[in-house]
Amino acid sequence: MIGEGIKSTNQRKHSYVQDHVEVGFFTDPSVCIGCKACEVACKEWNQVPDDGFTWSGNSYDNTGHLGASTWRHVMFLEQDRQKGNQITGPMGLPTDSQSGLSAVAAAKAEDPFRWVFLSDVCKHCGEAGCLEACPTGSIVRTEVGSVLVQNDVCNGCGYCVVSCPFGVIDRRPEPLPDAGGAFKCTFCYDRQKSGLVPACAKVCPTESIVFGRLDDLRARGAQRVQQLQQSGYHDAQLYDPTETSVRGIHAFFLILGEPEAYGLPPKPQVPTIYLKSAWTSAFATAIASIIATLLAFAFFR
Ligand code: SF4
Ligand code: SF4
Ligand code: SF4
Repeated sequence: MIGEGIKSTNQRKHSYVQDHVEVGFFTDPSVCIGCKACEVACKEWNQVPDDGFTWSGNSYDNTGHLGASTWRHVMFLEQDRQKGNQITGPMGLPTDSQSGLSAVAAAKAEDPFRWVFLSDVCKHCGEAGCLEACPTGSIVRTEVGSVLVQNDVCNGCGYCVVSCPFGVIDRRPEPLPDAGGAFKCTFCYDRQKSGLVPACAKVCPTESIVFGRLDDLRARGAQRVQQLQQSGYHDAQLYDPTETSVRGIHAFFLILGEPEAYGLPPKPQVPTIYLKSAWTSAFATAIASIIATLLAFAFFR
């Protein structure tokens, strides 16, 4: 897609909302440069308040995590592994005659290190825990398959917060505007209704975030994984939990390594799947209590 100019799905106008086409984001950290333009564009378009200009001192990632006022978060991961065929360690060493290693092999063996930048966002789950838990109908599914919070209907109960398997949605704290309400990425539904691309994808200079039809993106993601693996990125894989009760996500990722390193659960589940066993346990406990009470009356009168 890069180099397609205004023909790129990140730049051209569309009618996905009117045509009821399921859309998504494919995010590829192998081309992300960590510029955070996506975070800034999201804040600007959606007028999301700042959540403190804190400097953690641990990382260049000063945003930290997704939250009520951070709808895009670019993770900065520092990992002690190589990136593809990257040569790590001091360069230009002479051949180590004692170990028998070539200069390149010796350098590769020393201090493997890589930066990985991944722009995280609400996953717009196929089965969304937040939507299922919302008692007011504030959270709805849109024509394009995304999950939208209508803030004027939200009563701030927080049920959605505990029901999100990814820890995305959150209530906005005082003294920020609209404090108490739950907020997260809207998938720029307002922009999409007008045929515009979500702000974060629109500005991404490397097309690490790609917006488009979900089926096209899934095919593109599979192709990219294959391409990277052939280029030495043997730990490249897609993160799209289609096999769990979440039933796939509309914002899916290519990841290098394991999902846990990105704070992504390997097998996320919608909490309501545990309802049946919870009610069964509660019922069994109630019956056992009644029997114990009756026995107590019968034997200790
Ligand atoms: S990631 Fe969380 S907040 Fe986003 S749609 Fe899924 S359950 Fe809802
Ligand atoms: S889709 Fe819109 S609301 Fe969601 S992260 Fe991108 S810019 Fe922000
Ligand atoms: S996803 Fe794109 S806009 Fe965001 S930090 Fe990476 S390169 Fe920059």
